[in-house]
Amino acid sequence: MALSITDRCVNCYACLDVCPSNAISQDPKQFHIDALACTECTGHYADPQCASICPVERALLDGEGHEIHPQGSLTGIPPTLISVPTASNKQSPLMS
Ligand code: SF4
Ligand code: SF4
Repeated sequence: MALSITDRCVNCYACLDVCPSNAISQDPKQFHIDALACTECTGHYADPQCASICPVERALLDGEGHEIHPQGSLTGIPPTLISVPTASNKQSPLMS
């Protein structure tokens, strides 16, 4: 199994140098984990190092596709208080 990075990644580079398997690289849009190279840090660390250092919620998925840091898990802000942009509320208040 391998971890994966979502489009929530902000290209902060934090995970790049902590991977013991050199499985992380930068794609044009965001960072990427090579599923064939990722070992989930087995044999090196007790926890996946990219997940330990990533500061962004919803940026990493575990081997089963579950968010490692779900919304609110790092900030403590309840998901119900976060406004997610949609097609209907995306317009700037200055434009209305
Ligand atoms: S889980 Fe470990 S081996 Fe896999 S990408 Fe993250 S740091 Fe690298
Ligand atoms: S640490 Fe998280 S946000 Fe930063 S580059 Fe890696 S996956 Fe992206």
